[in-house]
Amino acid sequence: MHQDIERTLFSEAEIAHAVSGLGDRIDAHFGATQLCVLAVLKGSCVFLADLIRRLPQSLELQFAQASSYRDGTHSGELEFSFFPSEADLVGRDILIVDDILDTGRTMARIVARCEDAGASSVRTCVLLDKPARRQVEMDADWKAFKIEDLFVVGYGLDFAGRYRNLPYIGCLRAEIVAAGPDGHGTPHASPGEETAHA
Ligand code: 5GP
Ligand code: MG
Repeated sequence: MHQDIERTLFSEAEIAHAVSGLGDRIDAHFGATQLCVLAVLKGSCVFLADLIRRLPQSLELQFAQASSYRDGTHSGELEFSFFPSEADLVGRDILIVDDILDTGRTMARIVARCEDAGASSVRTCVLLDKPARRQVEMDADWKAFKIEDLFVVGYGLDFAGRYRNLPYIGCLRAEIVAAGPDGHGTPHASPGEETAHA
């Protein structure tokens, strides 16, 4: 285990098993439908790569990136640095894939934008769900794991851009979080300062 990780929440084997089950359920729902998979960068990248290899149907990939002004581990104002064009979404059956449903604001905004663009159907899939943190009414159609109000890293999820490459999901040691994104004791970016959040 990485020295900055306090404990593992989900092992590599547990994740593989859960993602395989998700793939089966999504496949059973969509059947032969030509899917448009809209992945939310960067956090979904590892999950996406594993999930789409469990989906046998014909699919295309699109990407969106949401950024927010946030203070370390809490979400703030949301904006999109890129998003597919309307032409890529109109009339499509869209499956939005994100790493985690936290406040639900990112997913709710992306669902609304897909619907506004004239998607024929919009479904959602997340690896992790933190229902205790929800601020808007939002539930994912498919999710692998429910977790408590914990900040987690690994398997695509980052802290200050790091730890995405860990093959498991875990919690950081408290002193790593307390040391802040720069690792030098600046606890968090000041409100309004943009911190990469994806
Ligand atoms: P929401 O809009 O649902 O509050 O935020 C979703 C985004 O916040 C996720 O896509 C993810 O990038 C980030 N996020 C929320 N909770 C966590 C967490 O526990 N760990 C990490 N690394 N990112 C998180
Ligand atoms: Mg994200």
